[in-house]
Amino acid sequence: MTADPAGLPADLIAAVERLCRTPRLLVAMDFDGTMAPLVPLAGDARPLPAAADAFAALAQLPGTTTALISGRALASLRRVASPPREALLIGSHGAEVWLGPDARPLTLTEDQARLLGQASALLRDIAGEHPGTLLEEKPAGIVLHTRMATDAVAAAAVEQAHLALDALPGVYLSAGKRVLEVSVVRADKGQGLRTLRDAVHATAVLFAGDDVTDEHGFSALGPEDVGVKVGSGQTAALFRIDSPEAVGPLLELVLDSRRTRG
Ligand SMILES: [Mg+2]
Repeated sequence: MTADPAGLPADLIAAVERLCRTPRLLVAMDFDGTMAPLVPLAGDARPLPAAADAFAALAQLPGTTTALISGRALASLRRVASPPREALLIGSHGAEVWLGPDARPLTLTEDQARLLGQASALLRDIAGEHPGTLLEEKPAGIVLHTRMATDAVAAAAVEQAHLALDALPGVYLSAGKRVLEVSVVRADKGQGLRTLRDAVHATAVLFAGDDVTDEHGFSALGPEDVGVKVGSGQTAALFRIDSPEAVGPLLELVLDSRRTRG
């Protein structure tokens, strides 16, 4: 496949140009590992300037809606991403949705809240016994981060967490890159994408992401949409770019194509 100077594959460029002729486009982007390079400490993540600039410019275009769709809790996503005011936000893999000031915040049922307390207590014990692991609390879940642990300790912690939590009905586990997500709300990025698509009556969607949890999103795409996997690994996405550094050129291409559509 020939590539243009920005490093985008030719088939992706053609697909984006076709996509951008749609009446109402949704540009939905994962954040960590996609808009922003992966970093050891989640609080240090920031979007790459080229990606952030093009994303902000897209948010201003007519017939174009931008969204971030992330595994992060919404509050954390806002803090690190500084999204444009117009951008819609999906956090906690779809459990938290922000579609504007009137959107309802997530509330847990009593059962869900009790379950989350149980799961958190079990994970706190496990994290305490595995150096380099740490926990992140979310409105509907808790996350075991193992990026700072040795491989052996990380694997042991995740295995113990599965042993402790797999038996709890109503608790959903999903593994990402060096994270184990524990949620009491069944949500995934496919569901998140469908929510966004319906909310803005999008006629086509661009979705890009780097992690295994993004595969639910790619699977929710139709033939009119474009899914872009960032980096290596198996994927249901039809297109791939090498790294977050290529996301800026990708969004710039969308911006140019959207501005000049007939
Ligand atoms: Mg990601």
